[in-house]
Amino acid sequence: MRAVDIIRKKRDGHCLAADEIEAFVQAATHGHWPDYQLAALLMAIVWRGMSAEETAQLTRCMVASGVRLDWADLPGPTADKHSTGGVGDKTSLLIAPLAAACGVYVPMMSGRGLGHTGGTLDKLESIPGLRVGLSLTEFRAIVERVGCAMISQTQQIAPADRVLYALRDVTATVESIPLITASILSKKIAEGIAALVLDVKVGRGAFMKTLADARQLAQSIVQNGQANGVRTEAVLTDMDVPLGLAVGNALEVSECIAALRGHGPPDLVELSLELTARMLVLAGEASDRATARAKAERALASGQALEKFGQLIEAQGGDRRVVDDPARLPQAKYTQTLHAEQAGVLCQMDAEQIGRAAMLLGAGRDRVDDAVDPAVGIVLGVKPGATVGVGDALAHIYYNQPERLRQATDLLRQAIVVAEQYQPSALVLETVGG
Ligand code: URA
Repeated sequence: MRAVDIIRKKRDGHCLAADEIEAFVQAATHGHWPDYQLAALLMAIVWRGMSAEETAQLTRCMVASGVRLDWADLPGPTADKHSTGGVGDKTSLLIAPLAAACGVYVPMMSGRGLGHTGGTLDKLESIPGLRVGLSLTEFRAIVERVGCAMISQTQQIAPADRVLYALRDVTATVESIPLITASILSKKIAEGIAALVLDVKVGRGAFMKTLADARQLAQSIVQNGQANGVRTEAVLTDMDVPLGLAVGNALEVSECIAALRGHGPPDLVELSLELTARMLVLAGEASDRATARAKAERALASGQALEKFGQLIEAQGGDRRVVDDPARLPQAKYTQTLHAEQAGVLCQMDAEQIGRAAMLLGAGRDRVDDAVDPAVGIVLGVKPGATVGVGDALAHIYYNQPERLRQATDLLRQAIVVAEQYQPSALVLETVGG
């Protein structure tokens, strides 16, 4: 089977046969095709798309390029949550301990932040000593003992995705529903989970800017997850505005600890409980959403979820004392407050611009190999809908490099709009599957 024939077939708009897709994935995994042929086929897929059957086969082959974990010996069900990425989106840090405290095992493999969006691994690594690069043996032992663990994708998990995603990143071939579906799902299916709740972010700070695009991605992932034996549900949630108040790694961990102590921002707590409840139902740990929600609320109020979070930190080598004393997290040298210059109702906080401002301060990265500063970021003083007076605190900026402050402050000023009227929007916009 020649690479050029497979590329030509897709270029001309035909469906690829199962063995042709397998040859492509094998070639990516073992280096049988040069990068220019892999990239040419990726570009043809971006332009011509893939049928549901082709996408399912691509997903299957990408899972089979590595190992698929098996948790059959655990005494309870497994589930995970995946978010397509946003600003201030820290729900994983709450959901994993919440679900574990409710009896669902969560073997979570997460990613790093890129561009204006944050990543779970960067947030976790702001906890002194905590390691995310664990072996699969260590991962398994922690999941068994604690009920949840959060690590980076290992070499054995969907290696084809590692090669293809790196190529897509530099050849403008990320934006393709079949390629995104296979990429996200292959890693999640390889985790060996029984159930997956997907949080598809929609809006200014999200990868998917429109409801129509988000819906299409959600439908594709739900259909493919089910076809691969994982009970999958997707919710479309708002990302016009950052989630919670904190944007920046240690600042977000601190906000999560406050939330696990019962003092979290309402939108963050609401979405975390909602997604956990859906995981419990999908995993078979609760018969319906109301029961699941009550269970998750009890795990939060009783402190059991906080205890799980402490156990997870300790098991992964981190300083567990941050749970009682968040001041042990990295702290920025300087802070500055942005004050309102006009009175009115806060009607917009552009998540993308706020994410970019945090990135400028050093909280995020432009390129995959950039380092992040765990201490810096932004904590919002108010959220849309609040009435503000002249001089009120709109945001607090935490920074280490004074030369970056000016640009970040300018971006923040553009992102925050005070006007006369405010149109509220729902947190959960739609559900797909389930
Ligand atoms: N995240 C992934 O893991 N893969 C994609 O293709 C896009 C986002």
